Amino acid sequence: VKFPKPLTKLIESLERLPGIGPKTAQRLAFYLLHFPQENLENFANALVGLKTGTKLCSNCKNVAESEVCSVCDDDTRNKREILVVTSPLDAFVIEKTGYKGVYHVLHGVIDPLNNIGPEELFIGELLNRVEEFSAEVSFEVIDGSHNLEIILATSSSMEGESTALYISKMLRNAGFGKDVVKITRIARGLPVGGDIEYADPTTLEKALEGRSDYS
Ligand SMILES: [Zn+2]
Repeated sequence: VKFPKPLTKLIESLERLPGIGPKTAQRLAFYLLHFPQENLENFANALVGLKTGTKLCSNCKNVAESEVCSVCDDDTRNKREILVVTSPLDAFVIEKTGYKGVYHVLHGVIDPLNNIGPEELFIGELLNRVEEFSAEVSFEVIDGSHNLEIILATSSSMEGESTALYISKMLRNAGFGKDVVKITRIARGLPVGGDIEYADPTTLEKALEGRSDYS
C-alpha cells in the first residue's frame, strides 16, 4: 500500500524525531489527518517559528527570545555562580529548584565516538566568560576564598564526566587557581547515568546543595 504523498512526507519527517519509529510515525500522521485545518496551521506555524523566533543568548548560550536571555539580564541573579549544563532543557529544569545564579549551556557533551569534540560545544565561550569576568572584576582574594564558582552539572554518564573533567582542566590550565575560581560538581543525588532532565526538582535541589569541590 502506498500512502498519498502528503502523508508519506509527514511520516518521513516524524520518523526523524527521537523515540518515534515507523509505526508510531504512521499513527501520528493519520491522527493529524483528523485535525481541523486551523489547528494544523497553528501547529505548522509553531514549527516554523521555533527557530526563527528564538536565538541563543550571546552570554550563556541558552535559548532566548532576545540577544541576552532573561536570566543573564536579571540584576538580582548571582553572576558569580555559573552553572554549566548540557542542554537548555537542563537549565529549564534546574531553574525550578530556585537556583539564583546564572547558566552556561554547552549544547552537548564531549563524545568522541560520535565525533563531538570540545570545539563542537560552547566550551571555549565558557573560558571567554571567565576571562571577561576576571578582567572586569578585580578578584579580592580573602582567606583564599573563591570569587567565581563554576558548578559542573553535566550528567554522571561517561561523556558527562569526561566533559566535566575537560572543563576543569581547561580552566586550571588557563591559570585560574582555586583561590579565584572554585570548581564544584553537583552531588550524586542523581541516579548514575541518569539525565538531569528526568530528575524531580527535590532531587535536583539536593544534588545542587550537596555539590563538592571538583578541582
Ligand atoms: Zn543568558
